[in-house]
Amino acid sequence: MSGKLYIIATPIGNLEDITLRALRILKEVDLIAAEDTRQTLKLLNHFEITKPLISYHRHNEEVKSNLLIDKLINGENIALVSDAGTPGICDPGEEVIKKAIEENIEVIPIPGACALINALIASGLDTKEFEFLGFLPLNKKLRKEKLREIQNSSKTIILYEAPHKMKTTLEDFKDILGDRKVVLARELTKIHEEFIRGDINYLLNKIDNIKGEMILIIEGAEKSQNREENELNSLSLEQHYEYYEKQGLDKKEIIKKIAKDRNVNKNEIYMKFI
Ligand code: SAM
Repeated sequence: MSGKLYIIATPIGNLEDITLRALRILKEVDLIAAEDTRQTLKLLNHFEITKPLISYHRHNEEVKSNLLIDKLINGENIALVSDAGTPGICDPGEEVIKKAIEENIEVIPIPGACALINALIASGLDTKEFEFLGFLPLNKKLRKEKLREIQNSSKTIILYEAPHKMKTTLEDFKDILGDRKVVLARELTKIHEEFIRGDINYLLNKIDNIKGEMILIIEGAEKSQNREENELNSLSLEQHYEYYEKQGLDKKEIIKKIAKDRNVNKNEIYMKFI
């Protein structure tokens, strides 16, 4: 009979955030597949668990998932853990989980810490509908597309970001979010846990030399505003221009507004109307 694959969430800072069930299963399995074996060893030592470890990370996911599947087929029970939080969420895991399902191996999630959920619930922003986008793409074109998606989304948006990139990311949002509320959640469950709540300009003033692990949560665009923007963006440039002209705005103001609606540089619009 095949073994079982347990996907175990581990703490994102505070070691007390491991569940009793997670500890029991870590003790019971035959093998633990870990993103970084040294990191997981610290956790196991803390809880006095001794267990064989195998590394399973982004760069060996393909090869190691085949090895893990063989072991599972041979009846071994395996726990999959990442460095922190829930495996598979911006962490390795997907590959072996998909293969296990294909092989009819039982996949069992063991719930626990997940940074995005904890950032969201304490953010004070709408939790009814939200969208987790992971890390923003580095590729300029894809990034621009994502920013546009965020600008138009009526859902609360959750992003992971590295500390040294947070300033650039906030700068990218500066012109497109207006006075929408944003929350930066930092060092969750750790000594320096902090929530900075305000608008983009407020956050930008607060984050010089900011350190630690962090998450950005963005309030969704008002549904009506969102609808209006979508309608405007489906117009031709000329119709878009006329729309604002009818409101009595002058050329300079119109170009600025069109550029903002379409999230493009105002010079680009200006060139079309000279
Ligand atoms: N699998 C993890 C989870 O369940 O959330 C996420 C791993 S991802 C590689 C690491 C990112 O998660 C960090 O860059 C940060 O954005 C976020 N993160 C992880 N731990 C955090 C913490 N204690 N406080 C704030 N953000 C955290």
